Amino acid sequence: MIYLTGDVHHDLEGYWEQDIAGNEIKAAKKYLSILKKYKISCTLFLNGVILDKEAEKVRELSEFDVEIGGHTYNNFGKMNVFKSYINRKRYNCIYGPASFQKKDIEKTKKAFEKLGIKMNSWRTHAFGSNETTFDILRGFGIKYESDLLGNQKPFEEKGLVHMPINIPVDINTISIGPLKPENRDSFASCTKGRIEPLEWFGIVKKRVEYNEKNNIDSIILIHPITMAALDDFALFDNIAKFLSKYESKKISEYSIIKH
Ligand SMILES: [Zn+2]
Repeated sequence: MIYLTGDVHHDLEGYWEQDIAGNEIKAAKKYLSILKKYKISCTLFLNGVILDKEAEKVRELSEFDVEIGGHTYNNFGKMNVFKSYINRKRYNCIYGPASFQKKDIEKTKKAFEKLGIKMNSWRTHAFGSNETTFDILRGFGIKYESDLLGNQKPFEEKGLVHMPINIPVDINTISIGPLKPENRDSFASCTKGRIEPLEWFGIVKKRVEYNEKNNIDSIILIHPITMAALDDFALFDNIAKFLSKYESKKISEYSIIKH
């Protein structure tokens, strides 16, 4: 089973992919229209601020075969090297203290409620969560999260289902754009450093084929804006064509019971 996901951010100053490819929701719409062509379901994790500020565009996305999950309100608010350092040092988590996380998740949930969308699933921006985040998510009745990376199967913990990303992530693996610190620790155990897009797609194919043969769910993260900035979705069209051979589901369609 394929669980394809993508993260969608609000306009951010100095965000190089947006400088090349523009607005992320526009990219998300193109992403979904390609998936529609190949009849693939997916889950997009959106910043809450997008639902508040671009409700009309979010409604347009909802018309596709997509689940919309939360992706923090607006990343971590104003983040800089100093704040990032303090958060990691003091709270061992870039998302900051429990009080900030709780407010942020609540604000995101409210933005969803205003549009009548139930937020069943969550991914923290930059996978920046910790156990505190998971507890807060449980408290808000969120059933699925997808922040963990690595070769592990989905599992449930005190009512929260973890959906670990078990396929190398596009932006962390492809050699495109500036190499940020968070991209150095890529889930690209198969590669030493970043590689060409086609080589990455080759690895994705092999892993998905292996998973399908062995009845392992593939949880994939491919960002709409990265595919837009890379080659205006030419590679993504090929990826979607490949993935369409397999059955796909949305994150919250995962059922722990049958596993
Ligand atoms: Zn993000």
